[in-house]
Amino acid sequence: MEIIGWAGTALVIVAYYPQIRHLWVEKCAWGISVWTWFIWLIASLLLLIYCVVRGEVLLSIVQMSNMASIVMTIVLVRRSNNICPHHVSIAEKRANV
Ligand SMILES: [Zn+2]
Repeated sequence: MEIIGWAGTALVIVAYYPQIRHLWVEKCAWGISVWTWFIWLIASLLLLIYCVVRGEVLLSIVQMSNMASIVMTIVLVRRSNNICPHHVSIAEKRANV
């Protein structure tokens, strides 16, 4: 049963990769709401406190990973200064409708 928890933890860590990669490589934050990510950061902090108080090691690791990825996402959004060709193309299509 514990393998399910570790698999879920691995997926939480991997799930951030596409977004962080896009922000890192393209410096494109098109459509990203920093407020949403900030709320997720506060939620993860509260859940981390809850997990630590309850002695939940695995879930504490998940929340710490979440917080690290969320902070990295927010930092990369703040430094982004570009709209990548993919998102330019989407914007142009919407403008022509
Ligand atoms: Zn983009």
